[in-house]
Amino acid sequence: MTKDRYTVWENCLRTIKSSIGAQSYKTWFEPIKPVALDDAVLTIQVPNKFFYEWLEEHYVGLLKATIQKELGDQAKLEYQILMSQANGERQANGNGGRGHSDSSLGFMPDAFMNPFVIPGIKQVKVDPHLNKNYHFDNFIEGDCNKLARSAGMAVAKKPGGTAFNPLVIYGQVGLGKTHLAQAIGNEALKTNKSKTVLYGTTESFTNQIIQAIKNNAVNEFVAYYQNIDILILDDIQFLANKVKTQEIFFHIFNHLHQSGRQIILTSDRPPKDLEGMEERLISRFKWGLTTDLQAPDLETRIAILEAKMQHDGIVLPREVVEYVCYNIKDNIRELEGVLNSIAAQASLNQRTIDVDLAREVVRKFVKEAHRELTLAHIQEQVAEHYNIPVDKLRAKTRKRPVVIARQLSMFLAKNLTNKSLKTIGEMFGGRDHSTVIYSCRAVQDMMDTDREFRSTVESLEKQLSMAS
Ligand code: ADP
Ligand code: MG
Repeated sequence: MTKDRYTVWENCLRTIKSSIGAQSYKTWFEPIKPVALDDAVLTIQVPNKFFYEWLEEHYVGLLKATIQKELGDQAKLEYQILMSQANGERQANGNGGRGHSDSSLGFMPDAFMNPFVIPGIKQVKVDPHLNKNYHFDNFIEGDCNKLARSAGMAVAKKPGGTAFNPLVIYGQVGLGKTHLAQAIGNEALKTNKSKTVLYGTTESFTNQIIQAIKNNAVNEFVAYYQNIDILILDDIQFLANKVKTQEIFFHIFNHLHQSGRQIILTSDRPPKDLEGMEERLISRFKWGLTTDLQAPDLETRIAILEAKMQHDGIVLPREVVEYVCYNIKDNIRELEGVLNSIAAQASLNQRTIDVDLAREVVRKFVKEAHRELTLAHIQEQVAEHYNIPVDKLRAKTRKRPVVIARQLSMFLAKNLTNKSLKTIGEMFGGRDHSTVIYSCRAVQDMMDTDREFRSTVESLEKQLSMAS
């Protein structure tokens, strides 16, 4: 009775399955199709050249033994590489005789067209697309990033050689994900120039895939990525709902991971909260280390700002640094934006760098969302500071301490919230907008002439902006 190729291959698979890990089996054997059985020659189809090379490198002994068990000592294995499905299943066939079930088995396709790889050169120099300005030296350490930073450093020193694979860094926008991920790439290259590092945004990755699909070059695309020693993919939340991109990334991920290459991913949320993402991908993201970047505390913000000032050659008075860092809390990019903006105002408009200028600039940066500060809260704080009942601020009293407290509350309300003059006036016993303007001017005048009053205002401001 002659055996058919399906039965033979199924029997082989059973043996293989019992000899290797479930994960490897799934990745490397499930996608294989038996395409022909001719005497003792079994031809199997593999998705791409790397697949073939991987099997050759890692499973040749196992394959040989299994196939011989099924088909006898004369058994041979031949590969067929699927070039492109979109191309009517065009297949590359072996050259020069039958394959053999030893390490010289298989073949190289006649024309392995790869737009990403220059023919004849095995290791193509890949442009890592790294920004040289992002390195560890200027990634200030704080409690907010300690674990992520040291895991990143470990990965850079020993890519693929730690348990942190993949290294997933997540955190909100502007907290340093891109900086840290790129610092790892730069550091790894510093230690070992021959490593192939590639940084890419998920957006560019997706666009390349679309391009590859158009050009029938998906296999080549995958092969190109499978050459990478350290792959950094930034903002993977943008993979959401992109089924084809996820599928291709899945294969690349598996290949890289199995061959001990390093994968670094960033995301704006923890993997488990990624929506529109295949479960099998999410579960792989959890294989390594998932670590977050949190908003930096005040001391770290000050250290970051000072480092940036030194780098840019900008000098800010201490109280301006503090004012800025008190007010810009959860986005380091905004912190830098404020610094640049203050520097620009100072040099272009000849402004003195002081807290007044900082306040103006900060107000432009701090978004509505950051300032949930309510007028009532301001009133309470000021009343408490002056030790007067809060309702006095809304009453008609003209007693001096109450008037000052009231004016100051209006001033703070105007500066720390986005409420209109009209709304502010209403909250102070139905006063009109001109009263609010007048109060603000009075406070400003007093601040200019009375240092003690000025410091009271500034400390209340700090206190309030820290609470918001
Ligand atoms: P994300 O990718 O998380 O949105 P980025 O990496 O783009 O954030 O960081 C925003 C800006 O803040 C960058 O200019 C970066 O250099 C800076 N930055 C973030 N974290 C730090 C840090 N710990 N030390 C110094 N600069 C930092
Ligand atoms: Mg980023």
